[in-house]
Amino acid sequence: MIYQRSSALFAEAKKYIPGGVNSPVRAFKAVGGDPIFVKKAKGAYLYDEDGNKLIDYIASWGPLILGHAHEPVINAVIEKAKNGTSFGMPTEIETELAKLAISMVPNMDKIRFVNSGTEACMSAVRLARGYTGKDKIIKFAGCYHGHSDSFLIQAGSGAVTFGSPNSPGVTQGTAKDTLLAAYNDLDGVKELVKANKGELAAIIIEPIAGNMGCIVPTDSFMKGLREICTQENILLIFDEVMTGFRLARGGAQEVLNIKADIVTYGKVIGGGLPVGAFAAKSEIMDYLAPDGPVYQAGTLSGNPLAMSAGLAMLTELNNKPAVFQSLADKTEYLHKGIAKVLTAKGIDHQINRFGSMISVHFTDEPVVDFASSAKGDNETFKAYFHGMLEKGIYLPPSAFESYFLNDALTYADLDDTIKALEGIQL
Ligand code: PMP
Repeated sequence: MIYQRSSALFAEAKKYIPGGVNSPVRAFKAVGGDPIFVKKAKGAYLYDEDGNKLIDYIASWGPLILGHAHEPVINAVIEKAKNGTSFGMPTEIETELAKLAISMVPNMDKIRFVNSGTEACMSAVRLARGYTGKDKIIKFAGCYHGHSDSFLIQAGSGAVTFGSPNSPGVTQGTAKDTLLAAYNDLDGVKELVKANKGELAAIIIEPIAGNMGCIVPTDSFMKGLREICTQENILLIFDEVMTGFRLARGGAQEVLNIKADIVTYGKVIGGGLPVGAFAAKSEIMDYLAPDGPVYQAGTLSGNPLAMSAGLAMLTELNNKPAVFQSLADKTEYLHKGIAKVLTAKGIDHQINRFGSMISVHFTDEPVVDFASSAKGDNETFKAYFHGMLEKGIYLPPSAFESYFLNDALTYADLDDTIKALEGIQL
């Protein structure tokens, strides 16, 4: 395939936009080469600026669970736009989406809309701190909760008492309140909680991790976290930006059967427009301004176009919950196909999967946390990524990302993907 025009557009973009992109993972830094510039997309396919057609496995990193340019969503946005795009005043559709979202997920009374997953997680932590009157939080190495300062904390080896910033610009003052634990390591969490007794506001976690590849928590780990939080008066925050409205109507809370105290959402809830949200019981949510003391706001929050896209998307998922099983079935089919080809090629690999999230790691050890995920062989990953791209398959351009399947993918697309893998040299 030829990617000439994409390369030219990238060169031009680099003159005016740092690194040529508005979000770093798009730049192919981990895999080398120039990123693909998209012209349009429909269903499961991307059409790039060189005229190539690609089968898409990222779906805008999750939101487009029913495929690109899904008609009910697009039509809702077009109709809404005709009446104005933003008012900075309340609109009825905000309540409609809030009501629907709350009815789909377990255990939540109220929800507030923001503009991104980053904002949702940042606001959830502020709310947890305000509500509990405590400062510290625990996050897990390899979990991503957006780019707000408290979350950009480097993974230490094992549990460390004080975080250190891994991005210049994050102050030591902020970093010291974010403690790190290893995913699936309950003992590590217990040690941190003991060492910081009475000081922890929240434990934030991706309930199925998707930012170090896909990593599934053990049952005892999740149950243990819930117990510790209840015992120690710590709020359990589920970051469901990826998993919410993707794994099931009620997201990870439903499939894991664990109740979180605050849940953050993004991606699917916005139908592909910029939306995030956070939700909790009224007792916690009423701590937010204007009723409560914890400040949180947004000029474009609850934007009518974003709300109309989200409402169209959730309405469809709510009415057709079979979508979740259909996606899980397709993902399992892909898993089996990839595993068969890699095994036949004699390539060491691990495939992690949950629902419609899946990742391939080139290592012979089980991938259960950030440290084991980081052992994957990046040279093989690069050959895999570029080999697949050459054959028109667009995978996430980093070994640390989960794929997101969309329900517009057909079994023929999956067969083409598996066949493409057969044809590449690893
Ligand atoms: N939380 C999780 C689990 C995410 O995967 C992401 C983004 N990939 C975010 C938060 C941040 O969301 P956004 O990029 O919309 O700010």
